[in-house]
Amino acid sequence: MSVLPQPSASTDALVLRSWPCGETSAVASYLTRDHGYVKVIAKAARRPRSRLRPLVEPGRLIGVEFGLDPRRQLQYLRTGSVHLDPLADRPSLERSAFLLGALELVDRCRPFAPQAGSPQEPVDCAELFNVCEEFVAVLSSPDCSAPDFAFFGLEWDLLRLHGLAPDLGVCAACGADMPESCGEGLWFALAEGGVLCASCGTDATGAPGARRRLGAEAWEALRILAGPGSVQEPPGWSRALRREVGALLHGFLGYHMPGYRLPAALDLLRPRKD
Ligand SMILES: [Zn+2]
Repeated sequence: MSVLPQPSASTDALVLRSWPCGETSAVASYLTRDHGYVKVIAKAARRPRSRLRPLVEPGRLIGVEFGLDPRRQLQYLRTGSVHLDPLADRPSLERSAFLLGALELVDRCRPFAPQAGSPQEPVDCAELFNVCEEFVAVLSSPDCSAPDFAFFGLEWDLLRLHGLAPDLGVCAACGADMPESCGEGLWFALAEGGVLCASCGTDATGAPGARRRLGAEAWEALRILAGPGSVQEPPGWSRALRREVGALLHGFLGYHMPGYRLPAALDLLRPRKD
C-alpha cells in the first residue's frame, strides 16, 4: 500500500466565524490570502489545551495549515499560529463592535463570480484579504483611537473592489468636474452611484428620496476615504460628522452591494433610549 502525502495549504487567514461541532470540535470560516473563502474543521479545538483553539477565534489574523481536498467542503485544520488579535487587551466596546461588524460584512458580501459572458472581472480574494489585513492591523494597534473610521475605510474598499465606489471627481449626472474643496451645494446620489453638482442635485427630475445634501465637511471626509493609503487618525472629526459619513456609506452600500445590510454588531453602539 502506498502512502501518498495529502495535499495541504499553508497561508494566512482571517477568522470570520466559528461554530461548535460535536462534543469538542469547531468549524471555522476563513478568508485566506491564497485560497479565498475556506471552511475548516478543527478537531477537539474546544478542549482547553488544544493547540487549534486559538485558531478559531473570530477577528484574529493567523497563519494556518489545512488539508486541501477538493472533494471536501470542510478541510482539516492542522496547525497554525496567531499573528494579530485586535481583541487581545481589553478592547473598547466600540473596537469590538466595529471588528465584528467588519467580519459580518466580509462574510456576507462575498465577491461574486461573474456570469458567463459578463464583462465584470471577478473580485480578487487576495486583494480583499490585503484590505482586511490592513483593517485588523489598524484595529490591533494600541493607539487606534478611531475604529469607526477604519471601518468606513474598509467599507469604501469593499465598494472599490466590487467596482462600485463612487467617483468623486465628476458629477455622476452631467460629468462636470467636481471642486477639490469646500463642496457647498453638492449632493450624494444613491441611484446615480456618485456625487452630483449643485445644479444636477436640485434638478427636480431625479428621484429625490435617493439623494442627500453633502455638507462641506462630509465632502472633505469622503475625499479622504477615497484617497490612497489607510486612514489611521481622522483630523478632528466630530461625532456628528462621523455619524453623517457612516449614514452616507450605509445608504450607498445598501443600495448597490448585493447581500448588504447594516451589520448586527453595530447595534451594540446605538444609544439606548432609557
Ligand atoms: Zn451635474
